[in-house]
Amino acid sequence: MTFAVKGWCPGALRPMQSGDGLIVRVRPWNSTLSPVQARGIAEGARRHGNGLIDLTQRANLQLRGVTPEALVPLQEMLDRLGLLDRDPAAEAIRNVMVGPFAGPAARTLAADLTEAILADPRLRGLPAKFGWLVDDAACPTILDRRGDVMLCLLKQGVAVRAHGAWLGLADRSQAVAAAVDVAAGQHPRLPPLVAPPACRRPPPGMTAPFGRLSADQLSGVADLADRAGVREIRIAPWRSLYIDGPMAETTALGLVVDPNDPILGIDACPGAPACCSSTVDTRRDARRLADRGFDGTIHLSGCAKGCARSAAADLVLVGIDGRYGVIRNGTPHDPVLYTMAPEEL
Ligand code: SF4
Repeated sequence: MTFAVKGWCPGALRPMQSGDGLIVRVRPWNSTLSPVQARGIAEGARRHGNGLIDLTQRANLQLRGVTPEALVPLQEMLDRLGLLDRDPAAEAIRNVMVGPFAGPAARTLAADLTEAILADPRLRGLPAKFGWLVDDAACPTILDRRGDVMLCLLKQGVAVRAHGAWLGLADRSQAVAAAVDVAAGQHPRLPPLVAPPACRRPPPGMTAPFGRLSADQLSGVADLADRAGVREIRIAPWRSLYIDGPMAETTALGLVVDPNDPILGIDACPGAPACCSSTVDTRRDARRLADRGFDGTIHLSGCAKGCARSAAADLVLVGIDGRYGVIRNGTPHDPVLYTMAPEEL
C-alpha cells in the first residue's frame, strides 16, 4: 500500500502521512451524516486513530493518527457505514460540497450531480482539487466558497457557474448535464441569468474551535440529533455542524454556539507536533490569544502553506524556525514584517 505524502487531497482509500500518523479523509455524501454514521466515525477515530477528527474547509472529516496496521479495519468500518468509494479514482473526483441549508430538492440535485460525475469517463482526469458546489437560492450560504463548477437551485431553474462566472440558467432536467459538460471542457449554451443569487450570512451552528473535534464531541452531536429526532447532521465548510433542533447544549461538549466567542475569529492549522512542516504549536498559541481577546481576524499558520485559511486575515502569524513571522492584513505568503517567539505573543 502506498500513501500520498505530498499535496493536500487525502481520502479514505488514499490517506496522507502526517506528523501524527495517517490522515484519513471521509467525504460524507451531500455534506451530511446520519447520527449512525457520525457515531461510527467517532468510534473509528477512537479505535483506529488518535481520537481526533478535523472538519475541513470542504465540509469533509479527517481522522488523524491512524497507523498503517489500522487502516484496513478502519476502511472496512467506513464501508459498512456507506462512506467508502468504490476505488481511489472515484473518491478523488467526488468532491461535491452542498450548502448546509439546501432543501430536499437541492439535495436531490446534488445527488444526481454526484452520480453523473462518477459515471462520466471524461471527468476521470480532472485535477484532484477540482471542486463542485451545490446550493439552494432559498438560503444560499456557500456561494462565496472556492469551487470550479457550481449549481444553485432557483425557483425558475438552476443557475450554473464555472470558475467564478455565472454562465446562465439551465432547466432542472438539463442542469446536471450542463455542469458535467462544463467540467469536461465544453461550453453549453444557456439562457442568461437575470438575477444571480447572492450569498447569505449563515446562522451560528455548533462550531469546533479550529475545526478540531474529539471523538466524544462527534458522538455527543450524534446523541443530540437522536434526542431531537433528526436524521441529518449537516456539515458546513466554516467548520460547523448543524441539526434541525436545539444545539445549545453542545457547549457542554466544548463546541461553540455563541457567534461572538473570540475563538471564532482565529484560524489555526494543526501545527506542531501534528504536522511535520511546522515548528510552532499553533493551536496552543491560538488558545492563549483567544483568552487575551483581539479585535479582528487572526490566522496562525505552522508554515507558509496556510492550510487553515485562504482569505486574508487582519493578523497573520506564520511559523519560521520555532518563531512566528508577523504579517498584517494578508496571508502567510505575504512578506513578514518581523518575527517573535511564541512566549512573546
Ligand atoms: S499550514 Fe500548517 S497544516 Fe498546513 S502544511 Fe503548514 S504546518 Fe502543516
